[in-house]
Formats: sequence, structure tokens, C-alpha cells
Amino acid sequence: MINHHPKFELIQSFVDGDLPASLSAAIAIHADMCPQCQQQIAELTDQVAEVSFEEAFLDRFIVDENQSIESVGELNADALDIEDMIAQITLSDDIDKVEPVVEKTMLFNNKAYTLPSALNNMSFGKTSHIGKLSRARIQLNENEIHTSLLQIEPGGSVPQHTHKGFELTLLLDGSFSDERGEYVKGDFIMLDGSHTHNPVSAQGCLCYTVANDALHFTQGINKLLNPIGTFIY
Ligand SMILES: [Zn+2]
Repeated sequence: MINHHPKFELIQSFVDGDLPASLSAAIAIHADMCPQCQQQIAELTDQVAEVSFEEAFLDRFIVDENQSIESVGELNADALDIEDMIAQITLSDDIDKVEPVVEKTMLFNNKAYTLPSALNNMSFGKTSHIGKLSRARIQLNENEIHTSLLQIEPGGSVPQHTHKGFELTLLLDGSFSDERGEYVKGDFIMLDGSHTHNPVSAQGCLCYTVANDALHFTQGINKLLNPIGTFIY
């Protein structure tokens, strides 16, 4: 069962369209797997739609001093001509097109994963490997924000580390655990500089990751592993 969800503020920004593509895709992927967040998004979207409809509707009744009462009457009749409005909407060609959904799969170490549909139109760099970690960069060109798919093979781990910025891990397949517990498919884990962790995947997993700074390894010999930090970032 999914235990980790995006914070309310993040969902609100998603609905308002204020997130970078990397994070927006993460919310969409999570919501596809999480009925609870899907519902929250639907409710917030309704609220946004209602507010902008009310604003647009009220704007039509703002009358400047030069306008006569008759023209207000006309506007009023206009606004209520629902039949006309529906006729105009159904005239539009835009809504007839239904794009077929093509499932995309991606291979990591001979294991095929079906990608979430939110990633279908994104381009991927080639996959690179260090030990049991494989990473394919997603090319979103968001400057310091780097987005990747990261596969951990069974028995693999990421040495204990922390971050200066944020690190989002969204589990697409499999499971992993760290000091805080076990994470499963759909879990949305947002960490910042105040968190230190050491993810281990017994069964293997595939994650969608977004980070805006390299990982910093925190323990003795792990400090020698900083190339992995750059690799994962
Ligand atoms: Zn959720």
C-alpha cells in the first residue's frame, strides 16, 4: 500500500500549473497509482475552474458609466445562452481527436519495464552503470534540476548520503528500504538536506528521481564514493 504522498502545497502548485515538468510528471505518475491524491487533484481542479469561471462571468457585468442599461440586458441574455455556447463547443475539431495510447517499455539489465504514460513523450539519454546501479537521464533541460530513471538491481544499495537541495524518489516498480522503513510502488519520497539515508533494495527496483544538487556521502569511506553522488544526481 502507498504510504508516502506529495505534500498538499505540491499538489496545489501542480493544479495551478506552477511546477517544472520534472515535478509535474512525478505528481501525474503518482496520482495514476493513488486514488486518494487523484481525488484531491480533481477537487482542487474543480475549485480552480469554478473560480476562473466566476471571474470570467462577473467580468461581463462590469459596466462603465457610458454603457446604457439596454446593453447590460444584452450581455445578460448572452451569458445565459447556454445552447449557443454548447453549439460552439461541439463545433470545435479539437475535441474529436483521441490519440491512441502507446505503451513504451524500457530495458534495464534485460528487465523490461512499462513506463508511466506521463513519460511517453520524454527523451532519454543512454543508460550508464556503476555496480548494481543503472541510470538513464531524462532530457528536460531544467538547468540544475536533473531527472532520471534509476534502477537498483536486487541486493544493490546507495551509500548513506544527504543532499544540499532536494531529492525526489518515486518508486515505479519493486521496493526498497532505508532507516525509515520500506517503500513500495507508487511511494512519493521527497527529502531535503535535513535527511540522511541509505536506501537498500533486496528485490530490486526502478525509480523516477528528481534532484537539484549532487548527493553528499556522509560516512568515512563513503566519502570516496562521491563519483556515485554525481552519477545519481
Ligand atoms: Zn497519494
